[in-house]
Parts: sequence; structure tokens; C-alpha cells
Amino acid sequence: ALPASEDFLGHPKGVYVCFFTEMWERFSFYGMKALLLLYLTKYHLFGDKAGLDLLGAYGGLVYCVPVIGGLLADRWLGMRKAVVFGGVLLVLGHIGMAFEGHAASSVGGIVSRDEGTLRITYLSLALIIVGVGFLKPNISTIVGKLYAPDDPRRDSGFSLFYAGINLGALFASLVCGYLGETLGWKYGFGAAGIGMLLGLGLFLWGQKYLHGHADPHAPETLRQRFWGVPREGLIYAASIAAVVPLAWLMWAAANGSFALAGEVSLALLLMLVVLACVLVWFGFFITRQCTPVQRQQMLALMALIFMALIFFTLYEQTYGSWVTFTDRLLTKDIFPSLVRAQEPVSWGAGLMANVAQFFAHAPWSMYSLVLAPVSFVVAAELSDRYPQSRLPKFLFVAVVAIMLLFMVRDSVILPQTAGSLTYLGALFLVLLAPVFAVLWAALGRRGRDPSKPFKSALGLVLAGVAFVPMALAAQQVGASGQMASVWWLVLAYLILEMGEMCLSPVGLSAVTQLSVPRVVSMMMGTWFLATAFSETLAALFGKLAAIEVPHGETLVLADAAGKYADLFWLMMFLGLGCGVLALLAAPLLK
Ligand code: GLN
Repeated sequence: ALPASEDFLGHPKGVYVCFFTEMWERFSFYGMKALLLLYLTKYHLFGDKAGLDLLGAYGGLVYCVPVIGGLLADRWLGMRKAVVFGGVLLVLGHIGMAFEGHAASSVGGIVSRDEGTLRITYLSLALIIVGVGFLKPNISTIVGKLYAPDDPRRDSGFSLFYAGINLGALFASLVCGYLGETLGWKYGFGAAGIGMLLGLGLFLWGQKYLHGHADPHAPETLRQRFWGVPREGLIYAASIAAVVPLAWLMWAAANGSFALAGEVSLALLLMLVVLACVLVWFGFFITRQCTPVQRQQMLALMALIFMALIFFTLYEQTYGSWVTFTDRLLTKDIFPSLVRAQEPVSWGAGLMANVAQFFAHAPWSMYSLVLAPVSFVVAAELSDRYPQSRLPKFLFVAVVAIMLLFMVRDSVILPQTAGSLTYLGALFLVLLAPVFAVLWAALGRRGRDPSKPFKSALGLVLAGVAFVPMALAAQQVGASGQMASVWWLVLAYLILEMGEMCLSPVGLSAVTQLSVPRVVSMMMGTWFLATAFSETLAALFGKLAAIEVPHGETLVLADAAGKYADLFWLMMFLGLGCGVLALLAAPLLK
């Protein structure tokens, strides 16, 4: 446990360090993701199918490698070093995405692309994959390590951390999604890179507050030499070397090369191999090394992880089919009368003029994203020096309040784009979190707090129901031939996020609670591995509504609407069907 002087507003300072680092990491991750499919289809003129193939392979691998990143940190590196190394790769990857080169052109239906730039894009995606693998699982386990095993604040610490994840996602859509689609792709991707750089800087400054809790448990094994190279160096070198084949896999996915049989791509095959290894290990572990009670707990956990797999398959449509659907078939402004008039941007009138223009157009959230963590740095340093003073905490809370105001302002006033509207998911999540906390607590006081399997099953049902407004919107476009209202999307996100609240934080806490402690990182990795398959499945389903309009021709709204409606009804049945089955199985799992 940490000394009490380490507390800041009720939680260890180290938790805030993880909070802001993860906020920036998710900012870069989701900012890039909100733009990726639009960038590929609108700038490099990919067809929907190729775009979704790449998105699926990237999303699959990015959630597949945390198993390995977690394992390496458990065995040798320790979490702190893993986070720093992952952070460096992420900065490079996101900055790399900002090279946009030349837009593709289409003459007589023949598309010519800037293949050189695309190679940089694939390499950047590969860097991000490895970076997330090192950072994401390990920053989550650090949070757990900062509390003593019996500390009652652990769960609320995790809720705080989940809020950080979603604040990052929220700002990502508002800042990167908006900048990328209005000022230029490179500004959106570049902002993601700068955000990650700040996150890395913050972590390097703040690692002193981890007090060695995230350090390697046997540092001497890191110095052990193989062929003259210390093990630590070998781990880094091998991970950097892995970027090349991963980049090649990205290229293969985008070009439909090496699609082994039908939809089975090399990326999917790789994921299946990882899954097979994990399952073999799991079978061995629960039969040989667990007591009967532990075995039951581990099996129940696996069932929850499987539910998460189905849930995230539906959820990931939001970054695929929902984005292209919004772009093509929905009106975009939620509050049209409030939206700020957008002056045309004319670049090229000298550096200072460009800089001035950039700041005139940039969303205010960009400032809060920097101000809030910086105010934490200042407040933490001041409270170290003057432990009695309340001023630092007051300062911090005030800046956070301003940050939230800027966020509200941006989400109401800025013209909305398909990419920036992905903010709705994170927004509802942040708004619903306290509601659900109160709800579960109130039910708990009456002894009626639903079981974890029940909550997860309910999450699945809600995810299915969320597709009803989407399908209705699609049908409306089909019938009228006109764009439908963006409010359908708002409603869909509201229902989906109620589902996420029931399933996702519950699942994370179940991992830490049900898992046998010595394999908890591995199980955390398995939780993310489920999402890896969700991403791939989501892209596969998304392709049912792939629209391939020959370039130069306009999209016939009614035709596209029919495809989207079919996809959305299918997803509705998938969620509802699995959800009802899970509801029936819940008493058994409990
Ligand atoms: N949105 C959450 C995050 O980014 C959940 C991700 C997941 O488990 N699939 O951390």
C-alpha cells in the first residue's frame, strides 16, 4: 500500500497518472479509428470492402497482441517499461498516419493510388498494433497494483479509469474526427499523434508516483545476455522487427491478397493460432492447476468473455457501417440552429496566416485536453510541496470543470461530421456511468443487485435493440429517397451505451475478481482477445452493406438504404437471440 500523503482527491496520485495516460492513448486510438475508414474510402478511394478488410485486420490484430504484451510484462519487463515502450511506438505510428501524400484519382473508373504513402500508412498501423499491445493491458493492471488487495476503493478506482478511457474517446471524435474531416486528414491524424506524445510525457513525469509497483519483479533476468545482447534489448528489438510482417499483413488485407479461403485472411489465421494457444493453455491450466472452485470461476469468466465477444461484434459496427451510413444517409447537425457558420478555409497564405486559421477553426476541446492533465501535473507537484494547502486541488477541479464545459460547447456548436458523431457513444457512456452506479447501489441495498451474468446478458439484449432505430432509419431513407434524421443515430447510441454499461465495466471487474490471481494479466489479455474476434467479425458483417459506387457516379440513396437495413436487422437478431439465450443461462452461471 502507498503512504496516505500520496492521495489526491481520494485516490492514489498514480491512478491519476494512469487515468491521463490512458485518456491520451484512447484519444489517439479512437481519433485515428473514427477517421480511418472515411480516409481510406474518400481520400485513397478504397471500395468499402477493401476498407473494411483493412479495418477488420487492423482492429483484430490490435486487440490480439495485448495477450503477448501482458505476458512479456508479467514475466520480464514489468508494466512501467512496457507502457513507455508501447507509448514510443504509438507516437511514431500516429505521426506516421499524418503523411497523406497525394489523393487517389479516378479516370474512367480506373483508380490510381499513391502507393508510397499507403506503405507508410500500413507501417504506421503496424506500429500502433505493437504499441497498443504493450501499453493497453499493462496500464490497466497498474491501476490494480496501486491499491492494497483489500482496499475498498479498488472498484471505484476502476470506474474512474473507465471514465478516463471514454473521455479520451469523446475528445477523439470531437477533435480528431472534426479536424480530419473539415481541415484535412493530416490534422486529425496529427492531433492523435501529438496527444499520444503528451500522454507519454505525462507518464514519464508521473512514474515516480507508481513507487516501483510496476517495476520488473526480477530485474536481473532483463540483464541476462543472449548472443551478447541483454534480454530487455532483445524484447524491444524483436517487437520492432515484428512491425514489418504486421505492416505486410495490413497491405495484404487491403489488397485482398492471400485471402486463403473465402473470408479467411492471413490476419484471421494468425488470430486463430493465438486463440488456439490460449485455449490449450486454458484447458491445461484449469484441469491441472486449479481447485474445483477456481475451475468453476474460470469457466464462468470464460462464458462472460464469450458474451463480450458477441457484444463487441455489434458495438464495433459503430466505427464501420454506422460511420459510412451516417456519412451517406443521415443529416448531420443535431442542433442545426446553433451550429457555428463555417468560414471557408484557404490554405497557403503564409505560415502565420495558416497557424492563425488553424486555431480559429480548431475545436476548444483541444485546449481542455492539454489543460486538464497539465493542471494535474501542477497540482500534484504543489501538493507534494505544500501538503496542507487545498489550493492545488481546487485549481485542478476548476480546470476539469472548464474542460467539460468546452466539451459541451463543441458538441453543440461545431458542425458535425460522420467521424465526429462517433462522440455520441462515449458521451452517453460518461453521462450514464453515475446513473448506473446509483442504480446498482440502490438495487444492492434492497439485496437485488443483478448477478454479473445477468447484467452481461442484458447488455447483449440492449445492443441488439440499439439496431432497431438504425434499421428504421435505413427503411425510412429507402421509402423516401431522402436523408433521415441524425436523431435515429442518437437514440441508437443511447441504447447501445446502456448495454455497454451493463457489460463492459462489469466484465473488467469480473476478470480481476474471478481469475486465479497469478494469471490475471493473461486473462485480461484474453478479454481483449475476444474483442479481436469481434473486430474481425464486425468487418465481415459490415461487408454485407458494402457499397461500391463506381467513382464519378452518385450514390442512389434508396439502394444503399436497403443493404444497410438488412445488415441492421441481422445484427438486431444476433444481439437479441444471443442475449435471450444468455439470460436463460444466467442462473446456471451464477
Ligand atoms: N471502449 C473500451 C476501451 O477502449 C472497451 C474496449 C474493449 O474491451 N473492447 O478500452
